[in-house]
Amino acid sequence: MPTNRTFTMIKPKAVENGHIGAILDKIGASGFKIVALKLTQLSKIDAEKFYAVHNERPFFNELVAFMTSGPIVAAVLEKENAVEDYRALIGATNPEEAAEGTLRNLFAESMTKNAVHGSDSDENAAIESAFHFSEREMFA
Ligand code: GDP
Repeated sequence: MPTNRTFTMIKPKAVENGHIGAILDKIGASGFKIVALKLTQLSKIDAEKFYAVHNERPFFNELVAFMTSGPIVAAVLEKENAVEDYRALIGATNPEEAAEGTLRNLFAESMTKNAVHGSDSDENAAIESAFHFSEREMFA
């Protein structure tokens, strides 16, 4: 996995609200190439594993319940400086603090239902991409 890739999920509420197209449009317009893409749903075990770092936090159960509540879009995105640039495009974790025009500013409903996930490091981007996609599902 080259370091010019990041992993994203469009979270269940944003999918339910019909924002898949608008979010993918913004991603493309911001210079990211989609190299892997699928509509899928996390099991409880998947979500607990994905967010294991937060398992002691008070919002963990709410987060797992939300993330398993409906389909998500998983994608791998490619761009120079992908991890950092995508974190800038999605905005702050709390949508009330997310800058104007960011994905969380435009499409989020709350801290938990904050529209999208973006990897926080190259290492996690590789782990999270491999969690959702086989090598043959990722394109150059
Ligand atoms: P991210 O990298 O910006 O997504 O933030 P984190 O990795 O810290 O948290 C993962 C996800 O957990 C966030 O996207 C939120 O959906 C949720 N989350 C994080 N912190 C809080 C919190 O304090 N309260 C609630 N309700 N959810 C949170």
